[in-house]
Amino acid sequence: MSRRVAVIGGGISGIACAGALSAAGIPVRVFDRGHRIGGRLATQTLRGTGTPHDGRVVDVGAAYFTARDQRFVEVVDGLIERGVVRPWTDTFHIADSRGVIGPKLGPMRYATPQGLRSVVEDLAGLLPDDLVDVRHPIDVPPIRREGDRVIVADEEYAAVAICVPDPQALSLLVDDSVADTRALLEGGPVWEPVMSLTTVFDDMCWQDFDGLFVNDDAVLTFIAHDGRRRGDDAPVLVAHSTATVAAGHLAEPLGAAPAMLAALNSVLRPTGDPSWFTVKRWTHARPLTARVEEFGWVDGIGLAGDAWADGPRTESAWVSGQALGSHLAQSVVR
Ligand SMILES: Cc1cc2nc3c(=O)[nH]c(=O)nc-3n(C[C@H](O)[C@H](O)[C@H](O)COP(=O)(O)OP(=O)(O)OC[C@H]3O[C@@H](n4cnc5c(N)ncnc54)[C@H](O)[C@@H]3O)c2cc1C
Repeated sequence: MSRRVAVIGGGISGIACAGALSAAGIPVRVFDRGHRIGGRLATQTLRGTGTPHDGRVVDVGAAYFTARDQRFVEVVDGLIERGVVRPWTDTFHIADSRGVIGPKLGPMRYATPQGLRSVVEDLAGLLPDDLVDVRHPIDVPPIRREGDRVIVADEEYAAVAICVPDPQALSLLVDDSVADTRALLEGGPVWEPVMSLTTVFDDMCWQDFDGLFVNDDAVLTFIAHDGRRRGDDAPVLVAHSTATVAAGHLAEPLGAAPAMLAALNSVLRPTGDPSWFTVKRWTHARPLTARVEEFGWVDGIGLAGDAWADGPRTESAWVSGQALGSHLAQSVVR
């Protein structure tokens, strides 16, 4: 009987889960519906902007990540050694709708020269080819149990790790045979939407900063200087909307642009308009809170991601996926 485990989701939690399983010698098949893996560690390449920045990558999902958990600190040290990650800054600025108020010291925030997706791609590239098979783009349909097996995309597995946001996990868990796993998600955190506005300017026509938390604003929550983040100083800003603004424009993301551009203007007061902009929609950007348990588990089907492990953060997604993979390796498929 095959010991192969299916991991649904090729974001950082799914790849961490596959890493823990393959480290224990267990064969794994990772499925992701994206053309590339990475999930919300999402990097887009600028194209058709009419600026010198075409071909440059921009982080349009997570803005950065932190590393407090010692297990993740060790992973980040390796990423830094391989040149994938760099310490970005421990100092962001605070602003409100009237403008920038001042700097604020916090934890070190990590960023990447090639975009945050490169973190997931690098970690996936370290997994042994003879044990880990990453398949994408495959949109996995609802799963079901048959005896002590779990059926994923018409194939049998010894167990399944679902490493996707809760609303996407719920759509995988509609069959009666998996109702016990579905019950683990009931009463879980609310997931909020975010619009991510990318703007390309001719030059850096604002007061210099790395990242800005925008307090008490109806439209924006955060602005990153992507050039500082990436280390090339390109005049590219990425702003995140409030959940209210995002919820009002889910059907037509570009409709959020006028309000977001006006808010950007009132916070930063740049001396020019952007030469190009676009908006990326995140319907389930992040959970408002997270469970303290590192993962969920019922009889052959596990749940992991940033709604677990005291998240919601990139590092808790990694911790959650890794912990689920270790649990599976130690107690379920041995
Ligand atoms: C706008 C925004 C800003 C953020 N800012 C920060 C930040 O500053 N700091 C921070 O630490 N975190 C931040 N985050 C959160 C961070 O991105 C997440 O915590 C982390 O990426 C979660 O990883 P994950 O692997 O759990 O989930 P995901 O990255 O969502 O990966 C899930 C994967 O599952 C795939 N999938 C889903 N359903 C299926 C299916 N049926 N079949 C196949 N594949 C499927 C998806 O394609 C996706 O690749 C932010 C997120 C967003 C969107």
